[in-house]
Amino acid sequence: MHRVWNFSAGPAALPTEVLLQVQEELLDWQGAGCSVMEMSHRGKEFTGIIEAAEADLRELLDIPADYEVLFLQGGATLQFAQVPMNLLAGLADEQSADYIVTGAWSKKALQEARRIGQVRQAASVEVKGEVADGFTRLPRAGELDLDPDAAYLHVCTNETIHGVELHDDAALAAWVPAGVPLVADMSSHILSRPLALRHYGLIYAGAQKNIGPAGLTLVIVRQDLLGRAPAGIPTLMDYQVMAENGSMLNTPPTFAIYVAGLVFQWLKRQGGLAAMQAINREKAALLYAAIDASQGFYQNPVAADCRSFMNIPFTLARPGLDAEFLAQARAAGLLGLKGHKSVGGVRASLYNAMPLDGVRALVHFMNDFAARHP
Ligand code: PMP
Repeated sequence: MHRVWNFSAGPAALPTEVLLQVQEELLDWQGAGCSVMEMSHRGKEFTGIIEAAEADLRELLDIPADYEVLFLQGGATLQFAQVPMNLLAGLADEQSADYIVTGAWSKKALQEARRIGQVRQAASVEVKGEVADGFTRLPRAGELDLDPDAAYLHVCTNETIHGVELHDDAALAAWVPAGVPLVADMSSHILSRPLALRHYGLIYAGAQKNIGPAGLTLVIVRQDLLGRAPAGIPTLMDYQVMAENGSMLNTPPTFAIYVAGLVFQWLKRQGGLAAMQAINREKAALLYAAIDASQGFYQNPVAADCRSFMNIPFTLARPGLDAEFLAQARAAGLLGLKGHKSVGGVRASLYNAMPLDGVRALVHFMNDFAARHP
């Protein structure tokens, strides 16, 4: 068997221990005589699986009792629409939602929300370049134009393509006008560090990076934000209905929920999110140090305090070398390093399942490659 170091941005690497447990239980889940894929979502076995997954997630993220955990489908992209459908469309015509644009994903979220209701761009830090548009930092307080009556304020706390991360929940919360719910797309860094959830009204994440297999979308929402959807919204789109039905109004993505539950158990065995944060910092520091010590051979343009610990994009000073770098990396067992098609270059995603040894192998390869191309 041949396993590579997988730096893909998503679907991304899963912990090997989890994959082995899935393999072990695939044909006969704990004496049930069938796979989790094949069992009723309403039977006692699966009910136990989803309840344990929620309980473990609540423990990991320290989720307060007045927040609902929803296991949904449609990816983070459906949340770009479902958030305004629930939190904006039912309000008076003159109300709007604020969006802070810090990268490609928050920009997409804003554009999609425009299809549903009134939306304002409360800040953008986009720099128009000749080659590619760039996002290299978070806005400063003075650059924000916030509506004190906004239906909500939307942010993306880790921009997967541009590698811009918001590290401090309390600092973000300090910007938010009193009474405006903060909504965050946390797809690419949820579970990478402890979270001060109290500052947020709603957070969401596609599963396929730091949670589990694609097909599952996690939404955590404060109860007072339920019941704001207009009458006539499709039933499956209504957070309140999904909350009342334990995410099982219809058949949920059972296998993805099962694997996510195993990932939550694995995270608890690693020591929880404070322990993950420490190792994630160490991994990211190692890679940024290699980039910064390369005398410009490798470059990451993001402001030091906004650099993502999860997604680290970098360019080679000689872009002509990109293809050779990627091909040789692949030959060296380093997979998924191609930058997003919109920005090119290289990107290493260092989610929870990427061990320190994988980052060491990448840094070793990068130093060697640079030395061979003086
Ligand atoms: N938001 C962020 C921050 C993402 O990284 C992604 C996927 N790369 C999305 C949204 C879209 O997610 P999905 O493919 O689950 O719809």
